[in-house]
Amino acid sequence: AKEAGRNQMVLFDEELRAKRLQAAQTVERLRDAITRDEFLVFYQPLIRLTDERITGVEALIRWQPPGEKMVPPDRFIGISEDSGLIVPIGAWVLRESCRAVAGWHRRHGTVVSVNVSPRQLREPDFGMMVLDALRTSGLPPQALILEITEGVLVNSGTVTEQAISHLSMLRGHGIKVAIDDFGTGYSSLAYLRDLPIDNVKIDRSFMPAPGAPDPAARTLVKAIIDLAAGLRLGTIAEGVETAEQVALLQELGCERAQGFFYSRPVPEPDAARLILESADA
Ligand code: C2E
Ligand code: CA
Ligand code: CA
Ligand code: CA
Repeated sequence: AKEAGRNQMVLFDEELRAKRLQAAQTVERLRDAITRDEFLVFYQPLIRLTDERITGVEALIRWQPPGEKMVPPDRFIGISEDSGLIVPIGAWVLRESCRAVAGWHRRHGTVVSVNVSPRQLREPDFGMMVLDALRTSGLPPQALILEITEGVLVNSGTVTEQAISHLSMLRGHGIKVAIDDFGTGYSSLAYLRDLPIDNVKIDRSFMPAPGAPDPAARTLVKAIIDLAAGLRLGTIAEGVETAEQVALLQELGCERAQGFFYSRPVPEPDAARLILESADA
């Protein structure tokens, strides 16, 4: 048994080393990916539930290494955060999506929601970077939503001052802040009142399962929407896949929805077409 244990340790050790090596290689390739322009931004429509028109888009990064399959963000965002590469990558996503949406905003009032990682908010010049991306693109601050997770603002019970001060400054300029994946973290509800935020995005794990009635899911979704409304926060439901879910969200007074029911994330030209069609309808 002792021998087996040792062998397992060796195996574990080798696996760990192989994993580290792979991570190091991915970091190298990601570093090159920036200069070689291998990233893309896809856009997923945000739908206003009262009239089901597109009022915004969420920017979602993709990595397209030449001659290979497109890599989804779950495969490289973590590694980019650990290595700090998320700082230049995140700045690129912001500049690129502000540029794309500036024209849509002028013609149709479209807003853009951009994911921001905790690592980016630790940078002293994060706020200036955001203002600079807006100025360069001509997108007004009111048309930008920054999506952050609960963990950004609250880390094991203590509020992170640097993040708060960046977001407060940016909100002073008219930029909006949304809490992403709301309800999946474990922060106290008091934070919703105290922190500099404007919207909550209801995580898709709260959507009722398709088919059978799901009274527990309904109760939770209603509680979140009522809570947000009481605090004058906007609500965006994520991962909406069925007409039944849409009907429920409309009945409960959720403001906006996003999900495969309306559209998957799509490349810029397809998003432009969807926005135009929605405005003409
Ligand atoms: P997220 O911010 O929660 O984004 C929503 C994810 O849910 C997207 O996955 C989207 O494609 C997917 N989704 C949308 N509608 C539906 C639906 O109806 N059903 C299901 N099952 N899924 C749906 P994606 O694009 O693969 O992104 C995964 C995560 O990667 C994002 O989760 C976000 O945390 C991160 N990410 C994406 N782009 C960026 C970025 O530019 N910066 C940072 N820091 N993170 C990003
Ligand atoms: Ca998001
Ligand atoms: Ca989310
Ligand atoms: Ca998520």
